[in-house]
Amino acid sequence: MKTIITGLLPEEISAELALPQKYRGKQIFKWIHSGALSFDEMTDLPVKLREELAENTMLFSSGISREVIDSDGTAKVTLKLYDGHFVEAVLLEDERGRKTACISSQAGCAMGCTFCRTGTMGLIRNLDPGEIVEQYILLSNKYGKISNIVFMGMGEPLANLENVRKSIEIFHHPEGPHIGLRKITISTCGLVEGIDDLVQHGPLVKLAVSLVSADEETRERIMPVTLKNSLDHLKRALKRYQEKTNRRFTLEYVLLGGINDRRIDAEKVRHFIGNLKAVVNVIPWNPAEGLPYKEPGEETTAAFTERLEELRVPVTRRYRRGRGINGACGQLAVFENSTDPSDSGR
Ligand code: SAH
Ligand code: SF4
Repeated sequence: MKTIITGLLPEEISAELALPQKYRGKQIFKWIHSGALSFDEMTDLPVKLREELAENTMLFSSGISREVIDSDGTAKVTLKLYDGHFVEAVLLEDERGRKTACISSQAGCAMGCTFCRTGTMGLIRNLDPGEIVEQYILLSNKYGKISNIVFMGMGEPLANLENVRKSIEIFHHPEGPHIGLRKITISTCGLVEGIDDLVQHGPLVKLAVSLVSADEETRERIMPVTLKNSLDHLKRALKRYQEKTNRRFTLEYVLLGGINDRRIDAEKVRHFIGNLKAVVNVIPWNPAEGLPYKEPGEETTAAFTERLEELRVPVTRRYRRGRGINGACGQLAVFENSTDPSDSGR
């Protein structure tokens, strides 16, 4: 496989394509991030160079193979990677018209959370930086300017940190999308080593953690990552992150009917938070076929949220978007051999 150039910085593009003039890499980088779909469109490059590049180099490694738009406007695209695997990316738009790209960091995921559809796929492979960046480019070319990025699609970003880091460098680059680090969120299931790596080496983006349960035993059962990353260790890593950034983070709490939705579960969340600055995002579980859970029900969700509020825990409830198209959180999965057309990227 040749290097994917959408995952390169300007100077790396010059080197990779062996361009005689160094500044050409910057020109190409700018074009890639201002909507060019082919080398032919890069009008400030000499015609001969454009022709050569068009002949020998692929601009994009992935392509959109499927697009579904939900009645609420949420769009989910399935991308076909160069080797035939598929990943998904979702575009969300809020009431003010601000667009957020929810992107994938891996094809599948190795973490095995039992309530998550992506978890049931296992890990296929890590995405290359260019494959991460292309999700953003393809979404913005299609739907217009995107202001925020969340790594909440398929995969565990901290298990592919080097490539995620490189993609963020590109997202943040002034000649590229130039997105502020506060507008980029990494969501993790709680890999302590990865959080510490961010503390030490950056980038200090916003952090969201899928807590889901603050009870050690329950969490071990539904999120096996807890076996090597106990709640106590996780909390200490979060403290270090907060000391460094002084920024509040989000704890995502997927509410599973009858599993983590009692008053005592809310109290354990309060205890876990202690003096950390955090907001809890309560997400009623989105049904995923074949997974042994049930939705919590409106009343239970309200009661759980109220209990947290009584305990003075800041809470938000995630809007449920894209449910009609399996584009909501934790519903992203592409089953490549599935016979259900809504599961397949083809
Ligand atoms: N691997 C990262 C990011 C991807 S998962 C992580 O776990 O944080 C994105 C979010 O979807 C996580 O908060 C996860 O807890 C949530 N999620 C997973 N399955 C879900 C489901 N079936 N219903 C609702 N949310 C789910
Ligand atoms: Fe992976 Fe996140 Fe799903 Fe867990 S919740 S299986 S870490 S994608």
